[in-house]
Amino acid sequence: RDTYIEKQFGRLNDMQRQAVFTTDGPLLILAGAGSGKTTVLVNRIANLIRFGSAHGSKQTPRPATEDDIKALRNAIMTGTAAPSWLDGMLRQNAVRSWNVMAITFTNKAAGELKERLRRMLGGEEGDEVFASTFHSACVRILRRWAEEIGYPRSFTIYDTDDSQRVMKAVYKDLNVDDKFLPIKAAINQMSRWKDQLVSPEQALASPAKDTKGALTARIYAAYEKRLKEAGAFDFDDLIYQTVQLLAEHKDVRDFYQNKYRYLLVDEYQDTSVAQFRLVSLLTGPEKNICVVGDDDQSIYRFRGATIENILNFERIYPGTKTIRLEQNYRSTSNILNAANCVIQHNTERKGKTLWTSNGEGDKVQVYTAENEQDEASHIADVIGQHLKEGGHLADHAILYRMNAQSAPIESYFTRAGIPHKIVGGQRFNDRKEVKDIHSYMSIVANPRDDVRLRRIINEPARKIGATTVEVIADLAAQEGVSMLDIIGHADQYAKLSRAVMPLLKFWQIYQRLQDSLETRTLDEFAADVIELTGYKAMLEADAAKGHEDAADRLQNLGQLVNNVKNYCDQHGEEATLEGYLEDIALISDIDSYNESADQVVLMTIHSAKGLEFPYVFLIGMEEGVFPSEMSKYSEADLEEERRLAYVGITRAKKELYISNSVSRMLYGRTQRNEPSRFLREIEPEYIEETRSPVLEQRSRFGGWGDSYRDTVPGGASGYSGPSGWGRSASGYGSGGYGSGYSNRSGYLNREYNAGEGRGFGSAYAN
Ligand code: ATP
Ligand code: MG
Repeated sequence: RDTYIEKQFGRLNDMQRQAVFTTDGPLLILAGAGSGKTTVLVNRIANLIRFGSAHGSKQTPRPATEDDIKALRNAIMTGTAAPSWLDGMLRQNAVRSWNVMAITFTNKAAGELKERLRRMLGGEEGDEVFASTFHSACVRILRRWAEEIGYPRSFTIYDTDDSQRVMKAVYKDLNVDDKFLPIKAAINQMSRWKDQLVSPEQALASPAKDTKGALTARIYAAYEKRLKEAGAFDFDDLIYQTVQLLAEHKDVRDFYQNKYRYLLVDEYQDTSVAQFRLVSLLTGPEKNICVVGDDDQSIYRFRGATIENILNFERIYPGTKTIRLEQNYRSTSNILNAANCVIQHNTERKGKTLWTSNGEGDKVQVYTAENEQDEASHIADVIGQHLKEGGHLADHAILYRMNAQSAPIESYFTRAGIPHKIVGGQRFNDRKEVKDIHSYMSIVANPRDDVRLRRIINEPARKIGATTVEVIADLAAQEGVSMLDIIGHADQYAKLSRAVMPLLKFWQIYQRLQDSLETRTLDEFAADVIELTGYKAMLEADAAKGHEDAADRLQNLGQLVNNVKNYCDQHGEEATLEGYLEDIALISDIDSYNESADQVVLMTIHSAKGLEFPYVFLIGMEEGVFPSEMSKYSEADLEEERRLAYVGITRAKKELYISNSVSRMLYGRTQRNEPSRFLREIEPEYIEETRSPVLEQRSRFGGWGDSYRDTVPGGASGYSGPSGWGRSASGYGSGGYGSGYSNRSGYLNREYNAGEGRGFGSAYAN
């Protein structure tokens, strides 16, 4: 095992090695894509656990140096004895695996981390390292301490759909019109508040600029109250409330600071204010905090992530050691140079240039398609060619800016019989029947969960109408109990007399489910839920009536039971209903991505963060798509888009294919978009361009402008006829972006960039 670790360490370059052997105190590793940040993080944990912290304990003669550690490792390898004081000191200082917490962004990244630690340290020790996402870490903390802040330990985790249901109730309570203040806007504002650690009280107290602001604060307070009554946290709450818990309860804080003496955070550039605060509350007085990130890859600003967290780290933790890594091990130099070209156009960055010794590789292939079908077919051709040459489907990833862009590729691939997998989109757990069954399971776990109860109380229909539900809710509020409590005693309330039978019947079902949970295995319980609630019978009846999707839905429920069984197999005796529901709540899009199957993978660039693939297709590289239409009016938004482009480009190891299409159907509208500015930012020497044969042919007859006018009368995006791109009078700043293509091919030609540097808005005109 030690030899294996040695071999891993041996691979590291000098700077990486320095980072790995810097064991104590605050450490910031700031480095570009593919430079081995995650690799360093894993090796650093292995080093801590295997060889210990470099700082001697009080009895040791002096802190160990890197040379000391080398001497020890040499001794281990050659089987000779190390100087006993050194050996004793280091062994004594070896960090226990359960003292280490590593936080990353996705469950997939956390899983990968665990897997690599297992490989380096062996099963037992590797498993003992607590590697998780921010959200899972918080769930774990709250499961233990939620009662301290007035929530049950068996709390429910609400998803967006649940939140919206709560909001509807709040809107009704406060008499708010969704047209005046859209629920979505209110939810976004609440989310921002929680990311910024603004409590409902603070939101209410802050002098609101307008009525909407003040109203949103009231909504926020009412929403939080309802969630607390239901014993539920939404996703933002998981972090926000954990921060409150740790900030207000010193004993809890001490507990964790003692437990996790070494903290490591990957993808640190995407942490929000709340996440940052969480990390600092968990960091003990020894300040053994190591964060790893890349300011150029910060792509969650819209979700409250703040780049300041990374820029301020050195200020907040005095004595921080900062290490920069500059060698990229992932990509060819053509790919890397293309990435460098793009990101150089951002002004808000610390600035660094990556290099690689991986060789030039092929040039970045840029393809201009006629439309999205043409784009899909081109990609299929390229992949087909690779397969002929012995390549694998799973080595190919198709990345895009927005989920909606996957649809044309998906339908083309399905018709062409190309195995593929979409990460994201409608998730299994978001299907109605699956959510319904999970809701039943939730209320068995947490009887206070009125939101989930409302979801299924009349699903399948059992004659419990909306009016009855409101009466129950009122009674529950009056008596300060849950709605289920009222239902259990429905016969005692005159107001419920008309619905007593169905309510008591529902109560009976509920009790049988509770029995089932106690007496049967978890997957049997899941099957019981589907059966005893009448859900199965309802779908079977639908199927018999010829409802087409009923059979699918039955199948999905079968799959649900399988999933529960898998969960049980994975967790053995520790499997619990809460645990299962928690897993579901925390599964994110990216986690449904299973590498082992040989299929092309499709996902958004956001989901691809931290991953790498031999062949990457970056599609839809067009103005209005990427950068998105919305982002074009703010320099900050534009820079975020550019970072996203940088993330996309740097996922590729061997070859990068970028495509844009002159016409694209998006959201039911045909758009004509110019090639993305990010494309033009790449120096031509790193690129090889091709165009769809159809376009080539067309340009031979009278040029771009004319052919557009002929084929698309009154093009949807304000295409303004035959004026060439470089000569257009309208340009970006003045509205009407798709303002005409040049009839010369070769849009990457520098001459079209004449306006570059004159500032956004006028850069593309004239
Ligand atoms: P990202 O910014 O995308 O998260 P990263 O900085 O975390 O990237 P890693 O994923 O750790 O980079 O490493 C990128 C690739 O380089 C991996 O395939 C990794 O195995 C390899 N690598 C890292 N360091 C070395 C090294 N010293 N020698 C050889 N390969 C290395
Ligand atoms: Mg990484």
